[in-house]
Amino acid sequence: MKKHNFYAGPSILSQHTIQATADAIINFADMGLSILEISHRSKQFQAVIDEASALVKELLDVPEGYSVLWLGGGASMQFAMVPMNLLAKKAAYLDTGTWAHNAVKEARLFGDVDVVASSEAEKYSFIPKGWSVPQDADYFHFTSNNTIYGTEMRVDPDAGRVRLVGDMSSDIFSRPVDVSKYDIIYAGAQKNLAPAGVTLVIVRDDAMGHVDRPIPTMLDYRTHIKKGSMFNTPPVLPIFSAMQTLRWYKELGGVEALEKRDLEKAAKLYEAIDASPMFVGCVTDPADRSIMNVTFRMTPEYADLEGEFVDFCAQRGIVGIKGHRSVGGFRASLYNALPIESVEELVKAMHDFRNSK
Ligand SMILES: *Cc1c(COP(=O)(O)O)cnc(C)c1O
Repeated sequence: MKKHNFYAGPSILSQHTIQATADAIINFADMGLSILEISHRSKQFQAVIDEASALVKELLDVPEGYSVLWLGGGASMQFAMVPMNLLAKKAAYLDTGTWAHNAVKEARLFGDVDVVASSEAEKYSFIPKGWSVPQDADYFHFTSNNTIYGTEMRVDPDAGRVRLVGDMSSDIFSRPVDVSKYDIIYAGAQKNLAPAGVTLVIVRDDAMGHVDRPIPTMLDYRTHIKKGSMFNTPPVLPIFSAMQTLRWYKELGGVEALEKRDLEKAAKLYEAIDASPMFVGCVTDPADRSIMNVTFRMTPEYADLEGEFVDFCAQRGIVGIKGHRSVGGFRASLYNALPIESVEELVKAMHDFRNSK
């Protein structure tokens, strides 16, 4: 049976990426060897990382003066690396979810943190509005898409003359981004790019070197800028897969084309939720609704049927729609690689389930 993969992360990858990765595990670049058993310093792998970085620059229109890095440690490691490298006295953070909250916690190890606004008391069901960035902060950090709660900021926030840092783990490559506004953008690969194990980081080179603390070599962005992400052994296989996904993105027409597809998929599902007497969206302000992670639940009248609906979907090959344990209900992740047919199957299942009651 064909599967419809709505998992939140690790999550669906394009068939192009899966097939090319499988092929490279058997025979990489006609070397007669697996990509798993060759040197990361071989010219064949150097070509892979170079192409991956060049495609990131092309797809996101990255200006001069920035480096594209491929690092280990996940997005969670960036929660610590960002303040270690940028926080001299005080940083500002927008608290929009669990990941943002974890980022604040790490930053506090390195200096003062001004949380400009938080929706924690309302279970992160919306993006706070009306905040401003203190102009004496060393940087402002925000999370563009809140994977667990299904809220998203689809604009590059205005931080004035304060450095801007974005965690774009779950919505990178789903819209054009004005990279020139940012000093650091990071994204764990396992949502919209590649298997887990690599984190894409885009850094403004001259943002580094303004703090006094000693920084361990591996946690200093300058190490990786200087060595082209090859100071030590990088996550070779996920970088290869990322390169394949980026090729596929380019072939599809780049981020504008991806955004169009993503908007269409999300509109389809939100329409079905809004039209149904059985389902209701979790995000309180429709303007904040994520096009990557759609969170919804059953109305109180039907709430005891949530488990049954998950099983009903599984019988049709629809997997990964159970909501995060901290939110409950359902979460359908509509990452770039998810075909619109999968959304149509889910909408149909919602409809059929309702009619069966
Ligand atoms: C998944 C996720 C993270 C954590 O990523 P890891 O690579 O597991 O550390 C951080 N931020 C956001 C927005 C995420 O979706």
